[in-house]
Amino acid sequence: MTTYDYDLFVIGGGSGGVRSARVAASLGKKVAIAEEFRFGGTCVIRGCVPKKLYVYASQFPEHFEDAAGFGWSVGETRFDWTKLVAAKEAEITRLEGLYRKGLDNAGAEIIESRAELAGAHSVRIASTGQVVTAERIVIATGGSVNAHAEIAGYEHCISSNEAFDLPELPRSILIAGGGYIAVEFANIFHGLGVDVTLIYRGPELLSRFDGDMRRGLQDAMMAKGIKLLLNDVIESVEKTADGALTTRTRAGTVVVADQVMLALGRHPNTAGLGLETAGVALNARGAIIVDDYSRSSVPSIWALGDVTDRVQLTPVAIHEAMCFIDTEYRGKPTKPDHDTIPTAVFSQPEIGTVGLSEEEAARRFAEVEVYRAQFRPMKATLSGRAEKMIMKLIVNATDRKVIGAHILGHEAGEMAQLLGITLKAGCTKDDFDRTMALHPSAAEELVTMYSPSYIIRNGERVTG
Ligand code: NDP
Repeated sequence: MTTYDYDLFVIGGGSGGVRSARVAASLGKKVAIAEEFRFGGTCVIRGCVPKKLYVYASQFPEHFEDAAGFGWSVGETRFDWTKLVAAKEAEITRLEGLYRKGLDNAGAEIIESRAELAGAHSVRIASTGQVVTAERIVIATGGSVNAHAEIAGYEHCISSNEAFDLPELPRSILIAGGGYIAVEFANIFHGLGVDVTLIYRGPELLSRFDGDMRRGLQDAMMAKGIKLLLNDVIESVEKTADGALTTRTRAGTVVVADQVMLALGRHPNTAGLGLETAGVALNARGAIIVDDYSRSSVPSIWALGDVTDRVQLTPVAIHEAMCFIDTEYRGKPTKPDHDTIPTAVFSQPEIGTVGLSEEEAARRFAEVEVYRAQFRPMKATLSGRAEKMIMKLIVNATDRKVIGAHILGHEAGEMAQLLGITLKAGCTKDDFDRTMALHPSAAEELVTMYSPSYIIRNGERVTG
C-alpha cells in the first residue's frame, strides 16, 4: 500500500480550506494546510467581514439625523477613517487568530507558504522547495479581482482589496460595476461622506436580482445623492499633476475623482498552481472543473469554493467543504446543494433575497402569483425619512409553493436568512397565510399579503 506524508493536504486557508482541514484533522486524519497570505481568506481579511463593519460605520450619519425625530439632539459629529481602519484590522486579526487556533486545536499542521501541485498526490511548498505527498489534496485558493488591463490607465485604479486600507478617506470616488461589490462600496463611501459616482454598463444595477429590488435600490441611491452613470463604461483613467484621477467614459462623460475603484467581477485563483502539471482540467474562465462531489478531473484532487466558480459565497464554500468531509471521511456521499441560497446586498437600503426573481419565475412557470407590498417603515414616520420598504413573495400558482422572496429595506438580510428556511422546506403560500403576524414589525407584511397583487400567465402579466 502506498504511504503518503499526509492523509489530506489543503492549499488555501480561506473558508472552504480551513473548514475541510480542521474537520478532517478532528476526525484523526493527518492534515496540512498551506496559506501564502493570511488565514481567513477573502471573507475574513478583505471581504464579507470588513465590509459589514464598514457598512455599520457608514450608517451612523443616518442614525444621527433620524434621532432628531425621536427627541434627541445629537451634537457635532466627526468621523475618523484611520480609527475605523485600525479597529477593523484588530477585529480581522482576532478572527484570523481564531481560525489558526481552530486548526491547531484539531491537530492540523499550518504551513505559512504558497503551495503548488507537483503531481496527482504531491505538493511543492514554495518557501522551502520541499515536495510532500498526500492521499487527497483539496484546492481552495478562492478568487481574485479582475484587473481589466484593457482600460487605459487601469494601474491607477484600486479594487475592493485596497479600498479597505486606503491611507486616507477620499473626498470623491468613481466606482465601476453594478454587482454586489460596486453597490455595497458605493453605499459605504457615500455614508462616510464621500462624493460617489457609480458607472455601470447596463441600464439598471444588480442584473441578476428581482426588478423591484433593482429599481427600488437604484431610486433610493439616487435620492441619497449617489450619481449613477448607466449604459456606460470607463474608457481611460489619467493621473493629473495634483494626484487626482480624470476618467473618460465611452459616452463622453469626464469624471474627476480622488480614487477610481473597479468592481467588475472576480475570477478563480488558479494561475501558477501547477494544475497543468497534475492534469487538473479547467474551464474557459480558468475555474477548476469538478463533479457533483467537488472532485476534479484528477481523482485524488478536489476543489472547493470560489476556485470552482460555482456560487461565489462564503457559506457555499463551507457547505462544499462539509460535503467533501461527509463523502470522503464519514462514508456518507453528499453532493453540495446549490439550490435556493439566501443572499443579501448590504447596500442602504439593504436587499435580502432567496429563490427566484419575478422575471425568472415568469420564464420557468406557467402561472405565477406576485404578492407585493410597498410601505413606509414605522421608524421613518417619526424620523421623517423618505424611505420605502418593498416586500415580495413569488408563488407558483400550480402547487402554491413560495418560490421567491425579496425584501428591500432595513434588516432585509436577516429576514432573507429565515425566509430561506421556509423556501427550503417547500412552504406554500397557505403556510404563510396561517402564520400569525408579529406586530408591530416590518416582517409581518410577509404573512399578511392575502391576495396577489398581480398574476403572470405564460410570461404575460394578466391582472393588476
Ligand atoms: P458581480 O458578478 O456581482 O458583479 C460584477 C459586475 O461587473 C456586474 O455588474 C457586471 O455587469 C460588471 N462587469 C463585468 N465585466 C464587465 C466589463 N468587462 N465591463 C463592464 N462591466 C463589467 O461581482 P462582484 O465583483 O461585485 O462580486 C464578486 C462576487 O463576490 C459576487 O458574485 C458575489 O458572489 C460575491 N460577493 C457577495 C457579497 C454578499 O454576499 N453580500 C458581497 C460582495 C461580493 P453585468 O451584471 O452586466 O454582467
